[in-house]
Amino acid sequence: MDDVLTGLLRPKSVAIVGASTTPGKIGHTVVKNLIESGYQGGIYPINPSADEILGLKVYKSVLDIPEPVDAAAITVPAKFVLDVAKECGEKGVKGLIVITSGFSEVGETEMEQELVAIAHQYGMRVLGPNVVGTLSNSDNLNASFAPFLPLDGSASLVSQSGALLIAIDAITYTRRIGFDKLVSIGNMSDVNFADMVGWLDEDENTKCISFYIEGLKEGRRFIDESLKVSKPIVVLKAGVSEHGAAAAASHTGSLAGAQKVYGAAFKQAGVIEATDLSDLFDCTLALSLEPPMKGENLLIITNGGGVGVLATDSAEKYGVPLNFAPESVQAELKKHMPSFGSAKNPVDLTGMAGNDWYHDSTKFAFAHDWVDGLVVLYCETAMTNPMEIAKSIHKAITDTGITHKPVTVSFVGGERSDEAMQWLVENGIPAYNAPDLAVRAMGALREYARLEAMKAEPIQNDHKVDRDTAREIIAKVRKDGRTGMTEIESKKIFNAYGLPTVRTELATNEEEAVSMAEEIGFPVVLKIVSPDILHKSDAGGVKVNIKDEAGVREAYKTILENAKNYKADADIHGLVIQEMAPWATETIIGSVNDPTFGATVMFGLGGIFVEVLKDVTFRVAPISEKEAAAMLDEIRGAPILDGTRGESPRDKKALASVLAKYAFMITDLADEVAESDANPVLVYEEGQGVKVVDARIILKKK
Ligand code: ADP
Ligand code: MG
Repeated sequence: MDDVLTGLLRPKSVAIVGASTTPGKIGHTVVKNLIESGYQGGIYPINPSADEILGLKVYKSVLDIPEPVDAAAITVPAKFVLDVAKECGEKGVKGLIVITSGFSEVGETEMEQELVAIAHQYGMRVLGPNVVGTLSNSDNLNASFAPFLPLDGSASLVSQSGALLIAIDAITYTRRIGFDKLVSIGNMSDVNFADMVGWLDEDENTKCISFYIEGLKEGRRFIDESLKVSKPIVVLKAGVSEHGAAAAASHTGSLAGAQKVYGAAFKQAGVIEATDLSDLFDCTLALSLEPPMKGENLLIITNGGGVGVLATDSAEKYGVPLNFAPESVQAELKKHMPSFGSAKNPVDLTGMAGNDWYHDSTKFAFAHDWVDGLVVLYCETAMTNPMEIAKSIHKAITDTGITHKPVTVSFVGGERSDEAMQWLVENGIPAYNAPDLAVRAMGALREYARLEAMKAEPIQNDHKVDRDTAREIIAKVRKDGRTGMTEIESKKIFNAYGLPTVRTELATNEEEAVSMAEEIGFPVVLKIVSPDILHKSDAGGVKVNIKDEAGVREAYKTILENAKNYKADADIHGLVIQEMAPWATETIIGSVNDPTFGATVMFGLGGIFVEVLKDVTFRVAPISEKEAAAMLDEIRGAPILDGTRGESPRDKKALASVLAKYAFMITDLADEVAESDANPVLVYEEGQGVKVVDARIILKKK
């Protein structure tokens, strides 16, 4: 465990620099909160002009404190923070909790950088600036200006918004969802989310890691750190700002919104994404109390048909669709219901279900091997007592002694149901006041299992590549002072990375074009080659299905003419002659260099699907072949690849392999390549492979 971070987040002693005698001031509140939270470590208020605050001796400087100090909470005005940081460094403080604002959030970026430089010079870490502080139930530590410690529990939350952290602190009591730590991360000048995942993974009192994120710093490191974590991570990502999309030169650029790339990155990092604040709580509750749902069989037990139907719909929606329970399971369950009940799935015990039926059916189902996850629903009835039902369910679950599969519960009713659910949560079973929420929670537990499995997939990084050729082509383009590469240059790089392209040859005059066409074999395709014309069709620069010599001669002249009309001073390298690829399913593969995550890879169906429906999906590169295969399945148009309406299935295996290889190429060339796409990539029938028909690479501006 990182000792310095531990000193910052679980300090054995805290100095409050800027401690104040005036109630209501932050420098006073922090001292008061430390005392009231029952903190047992040393509390040292610092203020040059006071002797005592809330009964504690006040020191003029941290340097005067006779004991060692782990953390310093800094509340002095921004202009004094750098000097304070130096004194803390001299004192041997481990971490600075910089509550003071007025740094990068108001444009004072240099001062913030200087603060970090000073801290690092002394081996200190900085939380903030611009934070509320940090809270830890297991240390009785409220080193913040949030009013109290959160309801105790086994999740820990890090928030980029201070105001939200304070609100969440209060919500923990109304929603009865407990947290061990709440950390306000502020401007993230030094300690960021990538640091927090690793530290919280090792924190013995944290079972589930929850984040409220507005924007990540060190995106790639966040993914890498998250991949190493053995605990569930759930994030709520706010902010829909799109960066540079409009100005993007490639198709992919215009499709890659920040939000899409974040979503992809979270998936890859094995992180579950919550849809809103309540969902963050719901998922956190389930993930902090229950193990992942490792198989696909969810069983639902209910006493009401209505909630059963609602839950069934939700099961579909949240990725845990119901399967019918096998006959043997149904036969046993029928013993715990009247003749008009249903033992299929959902299992309807009917409104006659009392404590015993709930207990016996829950116990049998939870213990049965076929069941991978259990949702127990209850509608309040006149004949039953919600608390007793809750206790029956709890007893049934604990009686089985099973801890490797999850259960979630929903009671629908009034105050008595609420109390029963609260009791369940306090006794370790996540309970929700609506059936769809219990199912959503189970969906999150299932997703966690799926993400965990994907995390283990190896990413191939030993592809046979001809780096020299690729780098030579890039060097030549750089020498010309260009960033846009022509199709033939791009394809040569694709080939150097083992990506299959249609045969493409450059002709610089009509005679060459004719002899190449004859060599390649008709029909052929002719296209303009000019770094000034990157979208060739727009310039009338593409002629397909040319069947003979006369056709080549005519197309050659027409394309040149069109190109000159399109851009009179275009630098024309010649024309390419290509084999005419037989028709197949058109797809698009692309990449942009994301400011947060670096190289990304995109996949979608080509033509109208990408133009109109924007039916594409992203990942941060590189990716495993399995991850690539998952991308093919998650676009809306996925059934087209599987073969619909008499069409035979497409070669998804070859496509996934090409996608993974492409992602590898993009990562390998990330220092040079800004954007790239292959549009179209033709996908043939199973076993027939994939062909890149058009390729485009745009280099970074240097
Ligand atoms: P651009 O995208 O720059 O306009 P493309 O090379 O993608 O140019 O060509 C436009 C369209 O022509 C492609 O989407 C494809 O439908 C068709 N096409 C281009 N080259 C070939 C080829 N070699 N075989 C078959 N069709 C092709
Ligand atoms: Mg194209």
